[in-house]
Amino acid sequence: MSVPYKIEASEELLVGGQNEQTRASAKVPIIARQFVSERALKTLDIVEKFVEEECIPADPIYAQQIGEGIANRFSAHPQIIEDLKKRARELGLWNMFLPKNHFKEGAGFSNLEYGLMAEYLGKSHIASEATNCAAPDTGNMEVFAKYGTQEQKDKWLKPLLAGEIRSAFLMTEPDVASSDATNISLKMHRDGDHYVLNGSKWWSSGAGDPRCKIYITMAKSDPDNSNVYRQQSVVLVPAETPGVTIKRMLSVFGFDDAPHGHGHITFDNVRVPVSNIILGEGRGFEVIQGRLGPGRIHHAMRSIGSAEKALEYFLARANDPRKKPFGKFLHEHGVMLERVARSRIEIDAARLLVLNAAMMIDSKDAKFALKEIAEAKVLVPDTLLKVLDRAIQAYGGAGVSQDTPLANMWAHGRTMRIVDGPDEVHLIQLGRNENKKGKFFLDKIEWQKKKSEEMAKSYGIEKRDILQLDRQHSKAKL
Ligand SMILES: Cc1cc2nc3c(=O)[nH]c(=O)nc-3n(C[C@H](O)[C@H](O)[C@H](O)COP(=O)(O)OP(=O)(O)OC[C@H]3O[C@@H](n4cnc5c(N)ncnc54)[C@H](O)[C@@H]3O)c2cc1C
Repeated sequence: MSVPYKIEASEELLVGGQNEQTRASAKVPIIARQFVSERALKTLDIVEKFVEEECIPADPIYAQQIGEGIANRFSAHPQIIEDLKKRARELGLWNMFLPKNHFKEGAGFSNLEYGLMAEYLGKSHIASEATNCAAPDTGNMEVFAKYGTQEQKDKWLKPLLAGEIRSAFLMTEPDVASSDATNISLKMHRDGDHYVLNGSKWWSSGAGDPRCKIYITMAKSDPDNSNVYRQQSVVLVPAETPGVTIKRMLSVFGFDDAPHGHGHITFDNVRVPVSNIILGEGRGFEVIQGRLGPGRIHHAMRSIGSAEKALEYFLARANDPRKKPFGKFLHEHGVMLERVARSRIEIDAARLLVLNAAMMIDSKDAKFALKEIAEAKVLVPDTLLKVLDRAIQAYGGAGVSQDTPLANMWAHGRTMRIVDGPDEVHLIQLGRNENKKGKFFLDKIEWQKKKSEEMAKSYGIEKRDILQLDRQHSKAKL
């Protein structure tokens, strides 16, 4: 059975006369083009069409189908998302995020190819889930695919890949500064064939959804280990385990992000079998580091799409004949065009940084691309927030209201400076690594000065400052 709202392919629809030149595949930056397969280009155009024609119009339907009241909102399962998932599968848009060089379970694209697609997914609230490419499941599926035992894969990876269940990643805790993961302190000890967990977690994204069945949980298993990076383990906790309580949901600038949301969860003598450990005791850092590589740029990729959407809204408002302050279109007020131009430049620059990070991962692995991932992780949210701010300003009061998606997009975009490690942590790491080159540059510059002096001598030139004046007023001839 096909989905109820099915829209026929419509060449003229893709607003503003979409044609060969303006399709997604034609807009792939030239420096990346040679690394993108024909199959990926074709899929990219399908992604664009699916997002623009089916997902974006469905966004408000989804919001409405979630309903009202905390109990309803966090048990809602909007029909439209299942219909879109079905449609996405019909179109062959499923699990595009799992990179082909590392996993056989995915759709067979590279990080670069998925990065181009994720940009379009980022323009809709629900397109990522519709294509089974939504966080935190994407990172979690990578954990299972990379480190899971066959039993763990069968039990959790299979239904996740099929989009039947959802998952959460539980690292951050309310009582410690969690951007430093050595602080993570959920207690974990072994008791016979089980581990027992006590403590609490928060910002557990996705945990509000009853379809969220599995928590990938970081806990402190060996607090006395002299190596602080070996004190933690990652263990699987099924959501329905006795002792697990979702105490409350956290809001993001007032938005509840239902039905997935962000949970504050307590663990009271929660028992899980020892076979639920990932990789082994004391290997928690390995797991979280492996998880965060590509996941960090998935956010960045989607944020580029979000920035493009903000610019589209900006341009729509700047050309709206019903809204002419002081008798002119908004675009006729010069300052607005400058803001449009800056947004264009900044988005295009940020995209190149993201795609470069994706290509670096493709060329080897995420570890090899740490610098490029950090660059994208920091720059892209900053760019997105700037573009969103300009678009919001152009809409005046409407920009901060529910009448455009901009306010919600800003709230979400703002969290990107904190999620997966705050900016400062990435900047310090980047700064530290750059600074390692300082001594080399000091020596190089000294060497170049010396060489210059030698060159001067060989030309019989006495080295002097180019602006050397040596003027003494008492001796000057007037
Ligand atoms: C919307 C949203 C979704 C999230 N989803 C998840 C999730 O699914 N799973 C999960 O485990 N966590 C999740 N988080 C939590 C997020 O990863 C943490 O908030 C983040 O890592 C920071 O940790 P913290 O909140 O404990 O802040 P802290 O560690 O207390 O840091 C507070 C502030 O201190 C500053 N700071 C930290 N380190 C340094 C430094 N080295 N130098 C200078 N300043 C510094 C930064 O400004 C930082 O923002 C989510 C958060 C949000 C907002």
